Amino acid sequence: MSSSRPEQLVVQHFTHIHPLTKVDGYGEFTCDGCKTYGFGKTYRCTRCDYNLHDHCATCPSTLATFMHPQHELRLVFRGPEHTHQNKRMCDICDESAEGLYYQCEPCGFDVHPLCTQLPQHVRHVPHPAHLLELSQWGASSICMVCRGAIRSWRYKCCPCGLDVHMECISSSASVAATKIQQRCFGSPQPQFYHSEYYYHHAYYNHGYTNQGQVHGYANQGQVQEPGRSKGRKMFSILMDLTVGVVCNIIAGPAVEVLNGCF
Ligand SMILES: [Zn+2]
Ligand SMILES: [Zn+2]
Ligand SMILES: [Zn+2]
Ligand SMILES: [Zn+2]
Ligand SMILES: [Zn+2]
Ligand SMILES: [Zn+2]
Repeated sequence: MSSSRPEQLVVQHFTHIHPLTKVDGYGEFTCDGCKTYGFGKTYRCTRCDYNLHDHCATCPSTLATFMHPQHELRLVFRGPEHTHQNKRMCDICDESAEGLYYQCEPCGFDVHPLCTQLPQHVRHVPHPAHLLELSQWGASSICMVCRGAIRSWRYKCCPCGLDVHMECISSSASVAATKIQQRCFGSPQPQFYHSEYYYHHAYYNHGYTNQGQVHGYANQGQVQEPGRSKGRKMFSILMDLTVGVVCNIIAGPAVEVLNGCF
């Protein structure tokens, strides 16, 4: 798991000529690697106003992932002239993949670095019996939370034939994390949630409401987000789900995983 790597304060990244320095608590930015929304932690060149997500700055050059188990993915950095002629979409979130992304070239599989951080299994409070699994194909095409249509990757419970949008999972993830945490540690530990998480979450929800969007419907093509906030939805989902991931590792979900379908 990437979280066990020691944190580097300065990185020399192949996408930029100068060293990048880690900055915590930076505001909003657009990542100059993957071109999607970022907030908070960045690896930054102040001289050039160049920012990378902390994950984009430190993710490995090759990746084996359950999202594309057939082949190892390769991290590539494509200039605008390349993506103009050959527009790529992230297979997971369906937004354009430009600049820095993982790809399996023979299969035409492309994925944002951030999207590779989505956990394979999550707990979903309204469905406590089984862990849900991130999957391209589901048992149905309707989300059990918002009743909206699902076209792409979703969390599913195979035995029960249930599907949930990624963003509809994250809306209850903080509640799930609290419950699991109580199981892990025996008692609630409020300091587990650091303030940056809450600040971001509150800010994000505020902005979302102002744009008149209905939570859970953004991926039905009814809403066009401005270019600057590309990846904002996925960034928020990750902020929510990574709180749960930490605890899922501790809780050891292996037994419940066996109930899934393979
Ligand atoms: Zn990035
Ligand atoms: Zn620079
Ligand atoms: Zn993506
Ligand atoms: Zn492949
Ligand atoms: Zn939904
Ligand atoms: Zn189930």
